[in-house]
Amino acid sequence: MTRATKTYLSETVVNLKPSGIRRFFDLAASMEGVISLGVGEPDFVTSWSVREACILSLEQGYTSYTANAGLLELREEIAAYLSRRFHVEYAPETEIIVTVGASQAIDLALRAIINPGDEVIVVEPSFVSYAPLVSLAGGVPVSVQTDGKQEFKLQPEQIEKAITSRTKAMILCSPNNPTGTVLNRRELEAIGAIVQKHDLIVISDEIYAELVYDEPYTSFPAIPHMQERTILVNGFSKGFAMTGWRLGFVAAPKEFAQAILKIHQYAMMCAPTMAQYGAIEALKNGDNDVEEMKKSYRRRRNYFVQSLNEMGLSCHLPGGAFYAFPSIKATGLTSEQFAEQLLLEEKVAVVPGSVFGKSGEGYIRCSYASSLEQLQEAVKRMKRFLARL
Ligand code: PMP
Repeated sequence: MTRATKTYLSETVVNLKPSGIRRFFDLAASMEGVISLGVGEPDFVTSWSVREACILSLEQGYTSYTANAGLLELREEIAAYLSRRFHVEYAPETEIIVTVGASQAIDLALRAIINPGDEVIVVEPSFVSYAPLVSLAGGVPVSVQTDGKQEFKLQPEQIEKAITSRTKAMILCSPNNPTGTVLNRRELEAIGAIVQKHDLIVISDEIYAELVYDEPYTSFPAIPHMQERTILVNGFSKGFAMTGWRLGFVAAPKEFAQAILKIHQYAMMCAPTMAQYGAIEALKNGDNDVEEMKKSYRRRRNYFVQSLNEMGLSCHLPGGAFYAFPSIKATGLTSEQFAEQLLLEEKVAVVPGSVFGKSGEGYIRCSYASSLEQLQEAVKRMKRFLARL
């Protein structure tokens, strides 16, 4: 890069590290016969009825912008869905904003609350976007490390230790990417007590809320007194197998939602119209399809996690999402070395845990959103790889 170009760029952007996942995807994409357990997306195609609703909207010529906050009919369906599935009540007219994926929802939530220098607690191992988005919004990400020995469950004392006079918010993600860990009601209540004591805001990323396998799911704003200080982020990518549709939403008390809407209307206008028509159908009639996909993920999780433990990669049973996060410490390799060697020698792509934060080192993330046959082949190759070490 020339010096002249460099001086034109934002310092924040220059200082951002490129995502560590990309390098592995690029390497895997250049090879043949790779089984990818790397990408975090469903292996299902979106339900036909949802695709059909989208096609119908195009046939009818609904190709203009929608309201900035999204189609009112969709916001009404989102409110009904949140009430039905998670027992939280939001007003569709003022408290729900339809966004371009949960990704944009997180970005907007952060930009709506951060003043320069405000600290935001990021619980690691974490989804790779949180810390960079905090920095881009002018804030300072402060990481809290969860521990594999505790199945990566966030301990309330850890949050207290990280809080300073500049702490404004924390980002919670349950079920978690990359660990699959789900926090239950009791654990969320303990976190809620700290949040209230220190007057924090919580951005609760519940994008995997539909994919919870063992215990009933608790949405963070359903914890007493938490709705008033929570910006709930969710969307259609994971549970409804709609990653390419780029549709998510924010649900939050009016003051937050309207601040978010202000940024959204200038930065994005609205989420894609045709995708919004598809999403209405997903929420109206999609429950059975979601349930079927969930059953299939649960079966694959059980097989894959058992196989990992049998081959000596110790792995807790992840309660949600579609990730297994086994320890590779026994191999003596770093997570980068493990992932790179496994890819080059056996053509299985996984993601090194180190890209998700300090406490991710010693682990790898494997997505089990692949067919059972692919998982069986991956298990065979991984066993062969381990036998040679
Ligand atoms: N949050 C988490 C925890 C995720 O794993 C992802 C996708 N990998 C997102 C948000 C973004 O989802 P979307 O496709 O809705 O932007």
